Amino acid sequence: MAKIFCVANQKGGVGKTTTSVNLAAGLAKLEQRVLLVDLDPQGNATMGAGINKASLNASTYQVLLGEAEVPEARQRSEAGRFDVLPANRELAGAEVEMVELDNRERRLKHALAKVDADYDFILVDCPPALSMLTLNGLCAAHGVIIPMQCEYYALEGLSDLVNTIKKVHANLNTDLKIIGLLRVMFDPRMTLSQQVSAQLEQHFGGKVFKTIIPRNVRLAEAPSYGVPGVVFDPSSKGAQAYIAFGAEMVERIKTM
Ligand code: ADP
Ligand code: MG
Repeated sequence: MAKIFCVANQKGGVGKTTTSVNLAAGLAKLEQRVLLVDLDPQGNATMGAGINKASLNASTYQVLLGEAEVPEARQRSEAGRFDVLPANRELAGAEVEMVELDNRERRLKHALAKVDADYDFILVDCPPALSMLTLNGLCAAHGVIIPMQCEYYALEGLSDLVNTIKKVHANLNTDLKIIGLLRVMFDPRMTLSQQVSAQLEQHFGGKVFKTIIPRNVRLAEAPSYGVPGVVFDPSSKGAQAYIAFGAEMVERIKTM
């Protein structure tokens, strides 16, 4: 039985995709069977896992519209040693096309249910919006991982996401909970980072992951090679942090 997690934050550029790809690779290093679902039409997770988004036979788009099953669409990230349900800009159309379909917010959930036995973890890289695509992710998931930069505006907008998660929990998916806030792109030399980080711990307590992901240029360089940062330079601080985060998640699911 796979545990399904959305990596979500309605802001762009906060480290969702970097977290999705590197957590997937970190978990694979810990011998976990992982499927990474790219739910963002930008297809950054797909490319970051080393899969060419321009030449997909089937993708998340066809799966959501019921035109393909996950086993036909998934591909192997050889570098990352995990499976990917890839996406490209075609997925943007699903937003509109799903409106006509039955059970439109549960389409991903139903598709993933059929491959549940194949994985320990399914990670869903969400787009930067509280859209029908993100709603499909939230309806499919057991929990949400929220990457956050420790900067002044980090908390702004977090309440929208938290309220959406509460509504989904109340009306659509009683399994859903916030698993945790993940501090990313952390710069320990900045007093502000330290302050915001301390604030997060105060407000959210046990919901803040122990692992902190530092700002690390190797993580930013890796996608252009189509290799997860964890594999690109395993000894870098960024890679080590994501492997530690993988271990924290493996522990966390034991109590779920
Ligand atoms: P999102 O998916 O939320 O839009 P990304 O994961 O694509 O965010 O990250 C935005 C940018 O920040 C990318 O250029 C990425 O390489 C860079 N980045 C993300 N995390 C780190 C990090 N820990 N250290 C350095 N650069 C990072
Ligand atoms: Mg992204």
